[in-house]
Amino acid sequence: MTVESKPTPPKPEDAFERAVARLDQAANHVELHTEVIERLKFAKSILTVSVPVRMDDGSLRMFEGHRVRHNDLRGPGKGGLRYHPEVTLDEVKTLAFWMTCKCAVMDLPFGGAKGGVAVDPKSLSTRELERLSREFVARIADFIGPETDIPAPDVYTNARIMGWMMDEYSTVVRRRTPGVITGKPLSLGGSRGRDTATGFGGYICLKEWEQAEGWTPQDTTVAVQGFGNAGQAIARLLHDDGYRVIAVSDSKGGIHQPEGFDVDSLIRTKNETRELKAVYCQGSLCEAVDADTLDNEEILKLDVDILVPAALSNVISEANATDIKAGVILELANGPIDDGADAILAKKGIPVIPDILANAGGVTVSYFEWVQNRSGDYWSEDEVTKRLEKRMRTQFQAVRDLAAEHEVPLRTAAYILALKRIGDAVEAMGTSRYFNSGT
Ligand code: GLU
Repeated sequence: MTVESKPTPPKPEDAFERAVARLDQAANHVELHTEVIERLKFAKSILTVSVPVRMDDGSLRMFEGHRVRHNDLRGPGKGGLRYHPEVTLDEVKTLAFWMTCKCAVMDLPFGGAKGGVAVDPKSLSTRELERLSREFVARIADFIGPETDIPAPDVYTNARIMGWMMDEYSTVVRRRTPGVITGKPLSLGGSRGRDTATGFGGYICLKEWEQAEGWTPQDTTVAVQGFGNAGQAIARLLHDDGYRVIAVSDSKGGIHQPEGFDVDSLIRTKNETRELKAVYCQGSLCEAVDADTLDNEEILKLDVDILVPAALSNVISEANATDIKAGVILELANGPIDDGADAILAKKGIPVIPDILANAGGVTVSYFEWVQNRSGDYWSEDEVTKRLEKRMRTQFQAVRDLAAEHEVPLRTAAYILALKRIGDAVEAMGTSRYFNSGT
């Protein structure tokens, strides 16, 4: 009998330590006081709350939620709130740490934070969802605020939920406070361009890549795993440029068509029916088109030029990394590639545009929203797009240049950039070098 040895999956409670350990490679390339990494190994503060919700049938259900502020040396904590049945404190801490790095890479005056509630939002009615959202924010209200920690949408949360939360927070503090949360509906102080910002930021990274690679869009194939807000936005932008989006998937599975889909038709049907269908629509008529079906694992292994994981963490791991055939991977989700897979992909020569850069368009426009809320001066879509594009291109080029200078993958380069900026803030507070110098 042969016993197959399988790679051991990471213990869930290890995620935070494993994420922080990824800094080590970058730290070798930066002149950094050891206190910088020491600080980043700890979350600044953690709040766990229980959230009682009266359900529509009269029963009471308890949910658990967390908000973690990882670091706020560069500014108030910033980061989304997710609703997912598998939310754990360890995951929220990891995501908060990534936000610290992401905000530093984008040079935003924010630290990192994250929150989440362990719930399957699809199993709740709209009224239950509103009660849960309001109750959760009431319970973390002392912990968040426009100058302390500013939540935003994330997996399975959206603008409407942010609107409820802003309204509830304003009730708690007895003051209309739009700057407490970003990603709100436009009519409640949201920013133009926020809903498509994550996809647009990733798209700008690919436009930079396109220049270097000399891609012709018509000959360039794309697979998008995850067809929510960010996945849809990038698929549409690439399709509009002539790229062939040949496969997309959502949590239930995917579709594949070598000639490329009409992305607008897919988005329209998905948003109207909540189902991903291979269709071509003209006016109000949609017709089925030929396509293969795929599962969420198969889509990752397609031979495409661009693979965009836009759903959940750790979908590419040691278990499937050797089967990945993409030309380049753009991490639109947070943490879709685990640390073991990173090394395998590097050996195979598959470049990865890392999450803390690739999906940073969302938090960047969140920053713009916060600025607009505080100044009361609201910008046009054009203004938002111009500012976002400029910032994305600048930071993409900074990361790419560091990668070339240090001969490291883009992920390491992005961490080098983050560490330099966070390191400056730690130094400004004084490290042992300063306190031992006798001045
Ligand atoms: N949830 C998004 C992220 O992971 C956006 C965070 C924000 O806008 O604060 O980057």
